[in-house]
Parts: sequence; C-alpha cells; structure tokens
Amino acid sequence: MKRRIILMGAPGSGKGTQGEKLAEAHDFEAVSTGAMLREEQKKGSALGEMVRELIESGKLVPDEMMTALVADWATHRSSERGFILDGFPRTEPQAEALDRILEERNEAIDAVLFFDVPFDVISDRILGRVGCSACGKIFKIGLQVASVDASCPACGGKLVRRADDTLETLQQRMAEYELKTAPVLAYYEKRGLLTRISADGEPDAVFKRVQAAITSV
Ligand code: AMP
Repeated sequence: MKRRIILMGAPGSGKGTQGEKLAEAHDFEAVSTGAMLREEQKKGSALGEMVRELIESGKLVPDEMMTALVADWATHRSSERGFILDGFPRTEPQAEALDRILEERNEAIDAVLFFDVPFDVISDRILGRVGCSACGKIFKIGLQVASVDASCPACGGKLVRRADDTLETLQQRMAEYELKTAPVLAYYEKRGLLTRISADGEPDAVFKRVQAAITSV
C-alpha cells in the first residue's frame, strides 16, 4: 500500500475531506499547509500575520516560507508513519524542495492523487461550506447545517466561513492554481506517480476511488 501520499487538485476539490478520511482509515498523519497557516493566524504569530493578506486575497505564500514550514514538519515526524500531504507542493520549486527534504531522510513520495472536478462543482462547494471553529469539521450549508448561524452538529461549536471562501478570492485562487500548481502535475506524471481521480460526487463515493488508488501496486 502507498504510504507517502500527496493530494493535489483545485481549491474545493476535496483534498481536506479525503485526507482526513484516509488518515483515519490507515492511521496516517494528515498534514495541510493551509491549516498550518490558519493555525499560525489564530495564534497571532509573526508568520500568521505576514501571510494574512496573501491568503485573504487568494495569492500563494512565497515558496521559501512554505518550504521552511514543511522542512520543520519533516524533521519532527516519525518516518514509521505514513502521511497525507494536502496543499503542498503548489509550485515546481516546492515539489523539488519536497524531494530534497524527503531524500535527506531516505524517503520518497509513493503516490500523488489528483482530484479532478469541474469548476461549477468547486464554486458550489467553496461558497456553500462552513467549518467548526472548535473541532475543524466542514459542513455544507443547506445539507448538513441550515446556515452559518447554526451550531456545529458534531460538537456544538461555533461555525465560521473561511475568510478566503468568497467568489472574488476563489477566482484568484483558481488563477494561481492554473498558473503555478497545475504544471506540477506533469512533474509527477513523468515519474509515474500520478493517479487521476474523478472527485465529483459524494465524499464516500470518492473515498472508494481513493482507497482503490492507494492499494493498487
Ligand atoms: P488551502 O487551505 O490549502 O486552500 O490553503 C489556503 C491558502 O493558504 C492558499 O490559498 C494559500 O494562500 C496558502 N497556502 C497553503 N499552502 C500553500 C503552499 N503550499 N504554497 C503557497 N501558499 C499556500
């Protein structure tokens, strides 16, 4: 089974949801660089403040900052445990840096799953989602919760929208994705690591495809 896995795809393609499911099913560590940055913002750290404007305008954070964050994560993790990386790499220099970081530890990526979804599904998901400020779970307005004013169905916590989940910011995030992230797919395809997964549909249906992809040889 594949144990060191990268999840790639446009914003709202389901990387976070599927990453959590995979981590739970196989006791892998789920790592999201977006979540790491939001955590820094919550703490009010210097890094969190530095990246706030970039995130809220839908721009990518500079490669050096992101690579330093991931290098720090790598030095603290146990290589015994598999991992799911969601949201990194997002540029070619980040992909090259990740290879070097793992190589230093005699490790390498086993699989890259690309979640393919049409734009209308993406905007529907992004503009209709809320997250719990306490437990972090994500819900769909109109399906699992009535509105952003409801309480978290899982823990009763306060629901919030991500500051970058607006139509304007989504358009900028998509532009960054097309320009800088989509070319990274070729980087992994050349090495035979890329599996394309249709990520349209309910999370459980997509998860079956994900499971099949990571257990195939
Ligand atoms: P995400 O939660 O993955 O959608 O990330 C939210 C935002 O965090 C992105 O729109 C970027 O501004 C920033 N971000 C997260 N990961 C990276 C990365 N690997 N490189 C650059 N910016 C990132």
